[in-house]
Amino acid sequence: MIANYRKNFTYIYKEKNISYKEICDEIDFVTEILTQIKPINIGIIQDLTKEQIELIKGVLEEHVETKKPLQYILGKAFFAGKIYYVNQDTLIPRPETEFLVDLCCQYADKNKNYKILDIGTGSGCIAVELALRIPKANITASDISKKAIDIAIKNASKYGVSQNISFIKSNLFSNIKDKFDIIVSNPPYIDYTDIEEVQQDVFDFEPHRALFAPDKGLYFYKKITEQSYNHLNANGVLAFEIGWKQYEKVAEIMKNKNFTNIEFVKDLEDIRRVISGIKN
Ligand code: GLN
Repeated sequence: MIANYRKNFTYIYKEKNISYKEICDEIDFVTEILTQIKPINIGIIQDLTKEQIELIKGVLEEHVETKKPLQYILGKAFFAGKIYYVNQDTLIPRPETEFLVDLCCQYADKNKNYKILDIGTGSGCIAVELALRIPKANITASDISKKAIDIAIKNASKYGVSQNISFIKSNLFSNIKDKFDIIVSNPPYIDYTDIEEVQQDVFDFEPHRALFAPDKGLYFYKKITEQSYNHLNANGVLAFEIGWKQYEKVAEIMKNKNFTNIEFVKDLEDIRRVISGIKN
């Protein structure tokens, strides 16, 4: 039974200030990644071996001791229901980012050879998801970090979409020559002055240059919007993930650069999380 199997591990969390729900989620996550068995099936269809239990314990103990995110200990994270490689050169993909992928898919005509650019691809989660969902798309994924691109390349290969994505090391548009139908980005957007609001483990372990941005967190929205204009085809779409208090400001930035039809998508917490506009 699912609850029973978790009893092997709950002692690791003794005296830790974490909810029962979070403990269960962490145990289930590590178990599924390490054994590929869906936790719901444990004790019903399959049991864990002694070796598997020891392996899971090792990871959970390291996590509880060091506070290092489980995804970095395991080198893997879930995004859109699939397992992606990650390391400390890449951000851990967040569920909110799935809304950005969904929005791009709504814009893309599946029968056309859409050209899409993902700026700051990190683990490549956005580019790979788009390649899987829009198989005819011709995708370019860029990042300033060569080490992040190495992970993105591994993810593209894992999901058989290496042919659909070109990876380019580029500081924003510095090495980008083409024009695109969609430019998408989940850029760093946390304002340096909001550092206290960032969870401790995020601050300690995730790459700061993927998280923080100058100019109240708006720096990359300004740069990318400005430069996108020359890199978008007529009626091209620009889409960003944004922070919880940034919608009005990013909408303004886009309107000032002649983007129209500015729209947003809310995430599961009812926060305006994704913004898009069309090149006028
Ligand atoms: N594109 C990646 C993601 O959405 C990385 C984003 C980033 O590093 N800011 O997870």
